[in-house]
Parts: sequence; C-alpha cells; structure tokens
Amino acid sequence: MQAHKPHLLILGGTGDAAAFARAVATAYGDRIQMTSSLAGRTRAPASLPGAIRVGGFGGPDGLRAWIIAQGIDAVVDATHPFAVQISAHAVLAAAGAPLLRLERPAWTPGPGDDWRMVADIAAAAALLPTVGRRAFLTVGASDLGAFSGLPCVYFLVRMVDVPDSPLFLANYDIVAARGPFSKSDDARLMKDHRLDVVVSKNSGGDATVSKLDAARAAGVPVIMIARPPDAAGGGSDRAATTEQALAWLKRVVGVD
Ligand code: NAP
Repeated sequence: MQAHKPHLLILGGTGDAAAFARAVATAYGDRIQMTSSLAGRTRAPASLPGAIRVGGFGGPDGLRAWIIAQGIDAVVDATHPFAVQISAHAVLAAAGAPLLRLERPAWTPGPGDDWRMVADIAAAAALLPTVGRRAFLTVGASDLGAFSGLPCVYFLVRMVDVPDSPLFLANYDIVAARGPFSKSDDARLMKDHRLDVVVSKNSGGDATVSKLDAARAAGVPVIMIARPPDAAGGGSDRAATTEQALAWLKRVVGVD
C-alpha cells in the first residue's frame, strides 16, 4: 500500500513564498505534494515547483471547503505583510490543518536614514507634498488611488506589470519590474528622475531594500508606511525565515 503523501498549501504571491516552495521541493522532492495559491494580481507569475492555483477562494468558507476537498495537511501563509484579508481568512479556514504564518521581519531605520513613519497609505499621501515633489512610489498597484489628489507631485511608479489603462495620477512615469532590485540600479533611477522622496510600505526582506539603501546614500527621505496590525492575530504558528518554516513543516507533517 502506498504511504499517504502530505499535501501542503502555500498561500503565496511573494518572493518569500516562492523561496519556501523551492526549499520544500529541494528538501522533500516528490515525498510531499505542494500547491501554491496566488491571487492572480500579476500577469506572469514567477515559475514555481509543485501545483499552482490562481484566484480567490470566495472568502473563508470557500478556503475552508477547498482545504477539506484537497485533503490539505498543512498550510503556510507566506502572503505579503500588507495582505491582511487572506491571512485573517487562513486563520478562520484552516479546518484543523496546522497553520504557519511565514513573515519576514519589518525593516528598521539605521544611521543615515531619514524616515518619516506613517500609519497607513492615506497618511503617506497626506504627508507627501510636505516632504518632496518628485516621488519614487513603490506601494504596489492596488494602493495608487490614495495619491491621485496630488497634481503638484511627479511620481515614478514601480509596479510589476504596466496596467491596461492610465493611472489616476496627474504626472507620472512607470517603471515595470519585478524584484529583487539592486542599490546601483535604484540609485540611478533616483538620479535620472531627480527623485527627492521615496514612498514605501514596510515590507521587510532583501528583495526591495535597495531603494532604502539608495535613499540613504543620496540623503533622500523615505515615507515609511507601517505594517497593518497582525492579521493572523496569534491564530497560527510563526516563522521569520525559510529555515524555520522548513523545520515547522518537518515537525507537523513528519516527512524525512
Ligand atoms: P488581501 O487584501 O489580503 O486579499 C484580498 C482577497 O484576495 C482575499 O480575500 C482572497 O480572495 C484573495 N487572495 C489574496 N491572496 C491570495 C492568495 N495567495 N491566493 C488566493 N487568493 C488570494 O490581499 P492583497 O493585499 O490584495 O494581495 C494579493 C496578493 O498579492 C497576495 O498573494 C499577496 O501576497 C500579494 N502581494 C500583496 C502586496 C500588498 O502590498 N498587499 C504586496 C506584494 C504582494 P477570497 O476572499 O476570494 O479568497
């Protein structure tokens, strides 16, 4: 009789989720079944080992039904720290399957940084015209609307895909790119576009930290948007690194 193959669901859409999926494939090969779930926000997702499903589940009930139907043995929520809805749904829907929140630590300012901390996107937009007039806007496609009422500000908007329709910004250019980025490339972007302020979510991690390194080197201030309150709310185990998440997986599903 063939042994039960554990089925892992990774809630993804981040570089950390992709790195974890690759690490699981390297560690366990085909001894584990793995499905990565993506919201479907980007046109061409990065290639991933295992199965990929795309699109919302239809709320926590839909996610729970999917987890039960697929016989999921463990769930790793590796979604972005600002993707609070899906993380809250994961806690509600895990249906008895062990749940791990994989979340990288937030960035913290160091010597030479000039960060203006704000609580949310709206506060960043309100503060922006008092800090600079040429902004490097790196908050992701879904949060650009908050900056639409600022005709006095030029925006260099970095996003994964160029949208089909114009942005609701008066004065902007788009640089379409997927991280990781380099400090030298970001320094060049900032110099070429004469940017005098960076607007960033406190995403954490190495893939997009280069804009902060470039801003520090150029003496450019950063409007840093704080993470929203923890959506998992203590309802899951936690890991900050791929290695910790792999150790958790080994413990809960017992694969060698
Ligand atoms: P969200 O507000 O937490 O979620 C909104 C809805 O999108 C969820 O209720 C769910 O729909 C669906 N969804 C989100 N992530 C999903 C996933 N991995 N698989 C299947 N459905 C998912 O999320 P968001 O902020 O829009 O982020 C969407 C995706 O982009 C996430 O995968 C996240 O990791 C990634 N991302 C987000 C940010 C950011 O700043 N928010 C940055 C980088 C990457 P249903 O209720 O129908 O299930």
